[in-house]
Amino acid sequence: MGIATINPTTGETLKTFEPLTDRDIETKLAKAAHAFQAYRHTSLAQRSIWLKQAAQILEDDRQKWGELMTLEMGKPLKAAIAEAEKCALACRYYADHAAELLADMSVPTDASQSFVRYQPIGTVLAVMPWNFPFWQVFRFIAPAVMVGNMGLLKHASNVPQCAMAIEEIMLRAGFPEGVFQTLLIGADRVAGLMADDRIKAATLTGSEPAGASLAAAAGKQIKKTVLELGGSDPFIVLPSADGEVAAATATAARMLNNGQSCIAAKRFIVHEAIADDFEQRLVTKFQALKIGDPMQPETDIGPLATPSILQELDQQVQACIQSGARVVTGGKPLDRPGNFYPPTILADIPADAAANQEEFFGPVALLFRVPDLDAAIALANSTSFGLGASAWTTIAAERDRLIEELEAGAVFINGLVKSDPRLPFGGIKRSGYGRELSIQGLHEFINIKTVWVK
Ligand code: NAP
Repeated sequence: MGIATINPTTGETLKTFEPLTDRDIETKLAKAAHAFQAYRHTSLAQRSIWLKQAAQILEDDRQKWGELMTLEMGKPLKAAIAEAEKCALACRYYADHAAELLADMSVPTDASQSFVRYQPIGTVLAVMPWNFPFWQVFRFIAPAVMVGNMGLLKHASNVPQCAMAIEEIMLRAGFPEGVFQTLLIGADRVAGLMADDRIKAATLTGSEPAGASLAAAAGKQIKKTVLELGGSDPFIVLPSADGEVAAATATAARMLNNGQSCIAAKRFIVHEAIADDFEQRLVTKFQALKIGDPMQPETDIGPLATPSILQELDQQVQACIQSGARVVTGGKPLDRPGNFYPPTILADIPADAAANQEEFFGPVALLFRVPDLDAAIALANSTSFGLGASAWTTIAAERDRLIEELEAGAVFINGLVKSDPRLPFGGIKRSGYGRELSIQGLHEFINIKTVWVK
């Protein structure tokens, strides 16, 4: 795919971009390496001032950044504006807490003095997806610049203007040239970049094939990676839960970002005693959602980001129906320009259907009925993914088992799975490895240096 802004609401190509040449890439790599030599000696207080300035720019111009995100990938404008605000929150979190989280850690030993010191490693490559075009980047760059690392961004090819806007924000905030740069390149250039000595590590958020390809290239060079990949998060509802609150949250959890979120609830696993009631509530809420132009404030569901996402999602839905699933609502693309798919619920999916092992990256909910908690946990754990899980119960013993036994990087009880700068974020199994956010995210790309003084 070329690098371009294509409006997903209309299908119109608004702007195309030439990928960087080898020479351009060399210039940027050299610039980052050069900037690191001075930047690594800047104080945490100075970095914090710059990062807070970035937060201010994100907040002051939230409307502009929001419109850009919506234009390029179709999320409802109100969600895009909220995304710019959340980026500001992450910047402020790291600006306020990095000094404490990066302080030397004293460890008494046989030395007169022994401690752990945290040091930057240099340039880190970030390969990022389009679905949260600002948030994915800021949750990488805010900790990176506080540690003292350089960031090079290879953003998804359908959000080039977001990528360039983020570079502009970082420069306007005062960060020296070279600390954060955007590389307008295709995915085919990533493996080659990993072989360059000036790139010390990489993080990728995206699909499994992309993650595997980057990790293989990095592995050849003994370079660390963090991978944030796909998910098929379970949303378990047990009889003691408040059905109305659970159904409202289930709707929000599935429809966030037009259904294109890694931590969206995708498989709804409901105890049979309340399954009919829950299904009815979910249908009512799905059918009440307003689909349309994402720039309009009343819109709940905009278009999917690209025609190929629409096509792939519809193929999955049709295959699921073929395998014997019941269509509760929705089930085929809307007959209108743009990449619109209606809120869809599929139920009674046979155990051997491929859908049970797939990620549905769009507004499609898979609904399952189970006889008890054991069956709910077994079904929740039956995929190769392990990103997040949401479970609804007011019974303490059930809650404790869910926390203990669900195979996921995050378990939320009676709430929607979400990212928060104060808490680590990441998956297990084929959802990836490593963590972003919180102290764990700050410590991913760092030299943990042991110091021992006699
Ligand atoms: P994708 O195709 O993997 O794209 C993500 C990024 O990887 C893009 O910048 C893409 O560049 C690049 N890329 C693609 N193939 C590559 C390769 N072989 N080597 C190196 N880079 C490559 O993912 P997507 O389909 O756009 O995004 C949706 C996926 O991301 C879903 O599975 C979703 O669950 C996952 N996701 C995970 C998280 C998380 O935190 N765990 C968060 C958000 C999304 P081009 O655009 O140029 O192809």
